[in-house]
Amino acid sequence: MRTLEELNIHNTYARLPESFYSRVTPTPFSKPPYLVSFNAAAAALIDLDPKEAARPEFTDYFSGIRPLPGSEPIALLYAGHQFGQYVPRLGDGRAILLGEVVNEVGDKWDLHLKGAGQTPYSRDGDGRAVLRSTIREYLCSEAMHGLGIPTTRGLCIVGSDEEVLREEGAETAAMLIRLAPTHVRFGSFETFYYRGQPDSLRRLADYVIDQYLPHLQGADDRYPCFLTEVVIRTAQLMAQWQAVGFAHGVMNTDNMSILGLTLDYGPFGFLDDYNPGFICNHSDRGGRYAFHRQPDIGRWNLHALAQALLPLMSEDEAKQALTAYEPALVEHYRDLMRQKLGLLEWRPEDGDLVTGLLSIMQANHVDYTNCFRGLGDFRSNPDALNAPLRDMFLDRVAFDAWAARYRARLRAECDHDAERKERMNRVNPKYVLRNYLAHTAIIQATDKKDFTEIARLLGLLQDPYTERPDMEPYAALPPEWGKHISVSCSS
Ligand code: AMP
Ligand code: MG
Repeated sequence: MRTLEELNIHNTYARLPESFYSRVTPTPFSKPPYLVSFNAAAAALIDLDPKEAARPEFTDYFSGIRPLPGSEPIALLYAGHQFGQYVPRLGDGRAILLGEVVNEVGDKWDLHLKGAGQTPYSRDGDGRAVLRSTIREYLCSEAMHGLGIPTTRGLCIVGSDEEVLREEGAETAAMLIRLAPTHVRFGSFETFYYRGQPDSLRRLADYVIDQYLPHLQGADDRYPCFLTEVVIRTAQLMAQWQAVGFAHGVMNTDNMSILGLTLDYGPFGFLDDYNPGFICNHSDRGGRYAFHRQPDIGRWNLHALAQALLPLMSEDEAKQALTAYEPALVEHYRDLMRQKLGLLEWRPEDGDLVTGLLSIMQANHVDYTNCFRGLGDFRSNPDALNAPLRDMFLDRVAFDAWAARYRARLRAECDHDAERKERMNRVNPKYVLRNYLAHTAIIQATDKKDFTEIARLLGLLQDPYTERPDMEPYAALPPEWGKHISVSCSS
């Protein structure tokens, strides 16, 4: 375990050509910083001793008051397609890469300070992040990790009494330290393609391959293989989002990680009632990023990336790489749904079993998370009524018809109820970050500077599969007020 000053900081991105980024320094808050939350699990990734969080230097380093020893802060350049339109100059407008920590086992983690003040990419923005959004990002990224979904992580939130203006009025500013193996996005490549800078494009591709996909190093076909790798990772990520009921909300290409991580948590939402057309971002009027469109948007974004990589490969190679998307998506989704249903193997008729369940869930407005969790208690005995699960459906006839098919399917596999339940409870979470849960933590933090709820949720969501009787209310359906929380891009 290391102290803050001993962190093994490298600056490999800052060794790339100067045109890839801007050298900047964080702008401290105008008011003193204080620690809102610290995540020991993330600290372990960078070998940081958790006791370090108690030192005053901790908030100083992670709110830009003191430079972290060894850090060469930069803001990364990138572009991207936002809601289908190409925007040539985006970049880290409010986040600063402090450096990259290499831990004892050789993994490298970006220390990315979000809300660190203006950079040359801030356009009209103030470079700040609000406490509300940093809490959402921090909790959700840890929740996704707990669910086994690739994601950036959250090390800590540092708050202050500085106020910033947003659509909703004056809000508290905060900074978040985000960890990820890299923050390179699809849009990082697009910027060099549209500027007509193939050498930079190649340099960036080589950097990503060398640092993160070393098995491709030196191969003649490394660029098409690299694209194929991103295609497959993205397809698998989409399958995971769909299977868990997560809507990202702003799947612009600048928010698409080159490593297939869930990146940039804005107006995201987990499904409550199963509604495939769910739009979590209230600014997304056309529903471009509605829940059921995510797999198609993933493909659209990969096409945008493939286009940007054309200077590095033939059109045929790019097209060939893209063909990996559909099978990877379908196969992974199928596998996840098979596990969610507690089946040991996939049979051709199982597709109908899945769509049959989803369609009665939709028609009956049944909660996605709780329904799958409840399915773990399904008893395959023909006399079993399976009352608690059945009672989630207003249309009992439809449920009974589906249950009969499910029962037959389970019996065909020589199913053992207790074993199946155990298997299912390891893949169907009990707890997800419902909007209303995050909202409660946010209100306590912003109105009373009470951060206990953040800590409680963090602990709960890092292990969302284990039943915790004392935490039962956290698995409850949203209260009426919690169903209509509107979340916009303004953060
Ligand atoms: P996001 O919606 O957070 O993915 O951000 C999209 C782009 O807008 C990125 O280039 C951000 O850096 C930039 N941006 C968002 N909010 C701000 C802000 N308050 N100040 C400066 N730039 C911002
Ligand atoms: Mg973004």
